[in-house]
Amino acid sequence: MLTVELYNEAVIKAQEYLKKAGIAITEEERVQIQVAEYGLDDLYSIGLELVVYVNTERCCAKELILFPGQTCPEHRHPPVGDEPGKEETFRCRWGKVYLYVPGEPVKNPKGVAPKGREKYFSVWNEIVLNPGEQYTLQPNTFHWFQAGPEGAVVSEFSTKSRDEYDIYTDPDINPAQERTI
Ligand code: ZN
Repeated sequence: MLTVELYNEAVIKAQEYLKKAGIAITEEERVQIQVAEYGLDDLYSIGLELVVYVNTERCCAKELILFPGQTCPEHRHPPVGDEPGKEETFRCRWGKVYLYVPGEPVKNPKGVAPKGREKYFSVWNEIVLNPGEQYTLQPNTFHWFQAGPEGAVVSEFSTKSRDEYDIYTDPDINPAQERTI
């Protein structure tokens, strides 16, 4: 459960990472930092911290902060109504991120599926993003990502974000979980 204490702790840490990445945010944005723990109660293993800059009908921009080894679980963004689903570009700003998408599985993955939930990580084509490197994901494509040993700050540019429609491989994940306290 995302308690006030855990939320505050994660927000303070997230700000330290933004600082390391040289990314300034306003006080207004700081108090709106989101902490996603997906209802799994294991934030430092499966979780994500987010600053949402903009999310309109046509575009969305966010900063994603991941602590060392922290994982955004496998999911896809399905079509909604007449729209094909969310297209996302991830650009690493600081640290290192291991991104996994469908395709040839890597032999020795740098990322590790979170303990006890290995079966919910099914795509293993590995893309390593260092600062200044980016990757664009097509809509409705399964993906998951994990920070390297120092953590990571990743900018996300996308079409409209509708978290409530996201489909997760892990059936215990609640996509509509509250992300702020
Ligand atoms: Zn996604």
